[in-house]
Order: sequence, then structure tokens, then C-alpha cells
Amino acid sequence: DRPVAPDADEHERRLEAALRPRHLDEFVGQQRVRGQLELMLSSARLRERAADHVLLSGPPGLGKTTLAMIVAAEMGAPLRVSSGPAIQHAGDLAAILSSLTEGEVLFLDEIHRMSRPAEEMLYMAMEDFRVDVVVGKGAGATSIPLELPPFTLVGATTRAGLLPGPLRDRFGFTGHLDFYAPQELELVLRRSSALLDVELSGAGYAQIASRSRGTPRIANRLLRRVRDWALVKGIDRVDARAADDALSMYDVDERGFDRLDRAVLEALCRTFGGGPVGLSTLAAAVGEETETIETVAEPFLLREGMIGRTPRGRVATAAAWEHLGLTPPDV
Ligand code: ADP
Repeated sequence: DRPVAPDADEHERRLEAALRPRHLDEFVGQQRVRGQLELMLSSARLRERAADHVLLSGPPGLGKTTLAMIVAAEMGAPLRVSSGPAIQHAGDLAAILSSLTEGEVLFLDEIHRMSRPAEEMLYMAMEDFRVDVVVGKGAGATSIPLELPPFTLVGATTRAGLLPGPLRDRFGFTGHLDFYAPQELELVLRRSSALLDVELSGAGYAQIASRSRGTPRIANRLLRRVRDWALVKGIDRVDARAADDALSMYDVDERGFDRLDRAVLEALCRTFGGGPVGLSTLAAAVGEETETIETVAEPFLLREGMIGRTPRGRVATAAAWEHLGLTPPDV
């Protein structure tokens, strides 16, 4: 229940469905990827062919699922959704592929987590629209070739580098999504607030945007919490002050750091004098698993220039001392 977590659970995914842009022109930001996709989809429509396979990479919550849905909508095609972890056997994939209809869009989230045999089946399906289904076991096993209708695969991964080369090469289009600028998040928030029926001032939007870690998912989540807060307090229009009060209640500060991020910075500066300190020592000091610190807190603190990584451990930067309102020791 971390308000600034980049991932969403099932419940939140359902809430998100109402806020998803349905068409490319409603999709905010990512101009480059959007422009390239638009061209590719228009061409496929003119040629009356299934669009090329699309690989989308980037951190969670930046719009990969949304873009997959938009690809299907723009092509007027049905969408099938699955994910790498759900496909553990080649047979799982064969079942999905063999039931696709012509032009259908297949979205595979976390495609880097598919099993090896499934991955190999996917190579052939992507390239030749064909799979070999193996029936039986051992010496009696036979392979039955199966023709597939042309379809469009949209794969999503948090890191394109995790994909094996042969898989990456089979995508006609690869788009990388980057974190959003605050002004872009304000546009996301304006659109969402109309759908959630909550009114904010310009400065109110800016308050939420600056705390959203460049991530539309987090922006929409914080907006929902501000909406709840305004509703209960009977506030009609959320200005900067009200947004600030609401989000402080959820422990998200003006840079988007939450309690865990601040605990790490506090420990680093106050307990360890700014470091260097090993990650496991730091984790023990804040009472968390090393992995939690490494995957949940550290990437954003690094990105924001609050901490540095040295061969001898983590160090606090001048920005960290300043953020905590502390004076760094003289060195
Ligand atoms: P991902 O698949 O990359 O984890 P999603 O596509 O599920 O991210 O997006 C998370 C939420 O953020 C969705 O509710 C979606 O509506 C919103 N969102 C993401 N990107 C945009 C965008 N460019 N414009 C508007 N809303 C967006």
C-alpha cells in the first residue's frame, strides 16, 4: 500500500481501467514513440494488413498496457492479454496462438519472463505465423505444423536488455517509454480529474505532478487519494495548499519521497554520517530487507541524485543533506 509504488495490484488495475486513454491522440507525452506508432498503424491500415509486432520497454506505470490497448483500438482489432509468467509451457502459448483470429492483437506483458521453450515457439509464430505443436512424448512424439492467422504481438518489458537478441530482432517496432515531465503529468491529471469528477486549481495539479515520480500510474493514484480527501473534507476545488495537506497525510513529500525513501536518507546521513555504507547495513538500519531497499527505494533516490553508489557503498549527496534540512559534516 505504498502510495508511490510503481506497480498496481488487481484491484488498482480495475480502477485504472476507467482512466485509460483509448486512442493515440489522448495518450499524453512520449511524442517520439507515439509519432512512430501512428505512422506504423496508419500504414498497416492502408495496406489492410496486421500491424508489425511491437516491443514496448520502460519502467512500470508509464503506459505500456495502455499503448497495447490503443494499438488494438486503432486497428479495430480484438485484444488478447497474457503475460510471460502465465506462459510456463510451450503448450500454454500454443493454446493462445492457435485461437487467435486474423489481425488480433496479442499483448504479452513481462515478456522477458516467458519460459525458454515458449520463447522458441514464439520466434516461429512471429516470423512465419506458424507453430509446430508437439504431441506425445519420447520416441512416439510427433510434431504437427499449425498455420496461424496474421496477428500483431505487442510485448512489454521493464528492460529490453533482458530479452534474448533473437526475440528482440523479431519486433518490427521497438519503443522505449521514458519518465514523464511534470507538465505532461499535469495533462494526465487534468484528463483524469474530469473522469473522477474532482476539481483542482492549476497549482493543485502541479502539486500532485511534482510528487508523482514521473509516472502516470502514481499521478492517478495520488489524484484518487486527493479526491477522497477533498470529498470527506467537503472541499470543492483543490488548490495547492489542499493538495499539499492531503498528500502530507499519506506521507508523500514534495519531491515524491515517501516514508521508506526518507528513512533511507535519514539513516544514511544521521546514522552513517553520509556514508559510504554497504547496502545490507543500510537496510538493517531501516529495518527492511536488502532487496526492498535495492529494488524499491534506491532506483528513485539514485535517479533524483540523492544518493550515489561507490565501490565502498552508498553515499549521500549534497542534495540529500539539503532535502533533510541538515548540514553535511566538514570533510
Ligand atoms: P504499464 O503497463 O507501463 O505498467 P499502464 O499502461 O498500465 O502502465 O498505465 C498505468 C496507468 O497510467 C493507467 O491508468 C493509464 O491510464 C495511465 N497512463 C499511462 N500512460 C499514460 C499516458 N501517456 N496518458 C494518459 N494516461 C496514462
